[in-house]
Amino acid sequence: MQHIYSNPTFQLACDQFKLIADYLNISPDLRDRLMFPKRSITVAVPVRLDNGTVRVFEGYRVQHHLSMGPTKGGTRFSPSVTLGEVAALAMWMSWKCALAGLPYGGAKGGVQCDPRRLSPGELERLSRRYLAEMIPFIGPHTDIMGPDMGTNEQIMAWFMDTYSARQGYTVPEIVTGKPLSVGGTYGRRESTGRGVVYLIERAAHLINLKLVGGTAVVQGFGNVGSIVARGLTHKNGMKVIAISDVSGAYRNEDGIDVRAAEQYTKEHGSLEGLPGAESFPPDELLTIPCDVLVPAAISGVIHGKNAAKVQCRILAEAANGPTTVEADKIFFERWQDVFVIPDILCNAGGVIVSYFEWVQSLQSFFWRETEVVDRLFRVLEQSFGAVIKRSKEQKIPHRIAALAIGVEKVMRARTQRGLFP
Ligand code: GLU
Repeated sequence: MQHIYSNPTFQLACDQFKLIADYLNISPDLRDRLMFPKRSITVAVPVRLDNGTVRVFEGYRVQHHLSMGPTKGGTRFSPSVTLGEVAALAMWMSWKCALAGLPYGGAKGGVQCDPRRLSPGELERLSRRYLAEMIPFIGPHTDIMGPDMGTNEQIMAWFMDTYSARQGYTVPEIVTGKPLSVGGTYGRRESTGRGVVYLIERAAHLINLKLVGGTAVVQGFGNVGSIVARGLTHKNGMKVIAISDVSGAYRNEDGIDVRAAEQYTKEHGSLEGLPGAESFPPDELLTIPCDVLVPAAISGVIHGKNAAKVQCRILAEAANGPTTVEADKIFFERWQDVFVIPDILCNAGGVIVSYFEWVQSLQSFFWRETEVVDRLFRVLEQSFGAVIKRSKEQKIPHRIAALAIGVEKVMRARTQRGLFP
């Protein structure tokens, strides 16, 4: 079926949903209501560039469902972002929030741009104008933005400032992932990576895998990948033997110095030329033998052609949608070799701490970092336990269990509220 969302990532999210709908026996009239986004907004974002010309960027926001509270989700600045990709990410946010028990529907937004090619001034003008175009559609009780790929604390501060300037007073609860100085929370920046590491530890415990001295491979070295790499090495004594970013892939069998790599990317903008590591073809990264494999970049990277060659004990999906449905079928047959921590569970730490930040902003009552981390782990523990229990009891893959729990909660809210009018 052709529609405005047609795109491989949206197709992946729909294919996953259809499997769940069959498994849960969802009636045909409810399927489309649950799958298609409630609202999609596309805006033109005109920005004056430093050379004096004006360029119009395309901006999107998709609000997937409104049945359980406001919508919540990040904003992605990337050259490849499309309405269909944003719609898929919004749908995943819905199941992710429901699985974690957060009172939100899913949303996601994006601007088609390459933030690394914009000057700081251009980036600020783009961020402010995108947010200004979105003002009629968002609000602290309607839709709350947060960070995603290509956006950061500074951009969240500009979003918050632009919204507040229109209201005439400060509205910190309109975005999460803000700097601490303007009402952000302790631990948001580290939250996604920290959650991934926590769940890897839990999975390792379940399958009796000793992490100390083990090996890990991390795809993507942004806010999530670098923090996971740090947690696996410094906290768990693992060796990160290969990492990658947009510039390429880099390996060292004796272990990459993660802190030095973080410092290097800060100074050079990417991992290109990283000392103490050898560059190799990025498409070999995911099939390197290792104990823990962490895709922390983009969607669709593990597919029907490479899934059988993946050689890890734990696949920790820090990215959204890294594994296709074809690859999932292969992993289901290999369930005794590979323990999959599905994305909507694995990377939920980010939105969980975003929820904590929204609560703190609404109440103007702030928590200490230990309280944030403690509560984060408690929510993750509960979700992890529920997924493992359902998977064991019904002999279904972890992803089906995780999605089923999320979809069921949304469906219950939908049907209990009834159809309007
Ligand atoms: N971008 C994050 C995700 O994909 C969450 C954004 C937020 O905190 O709202 O889960």
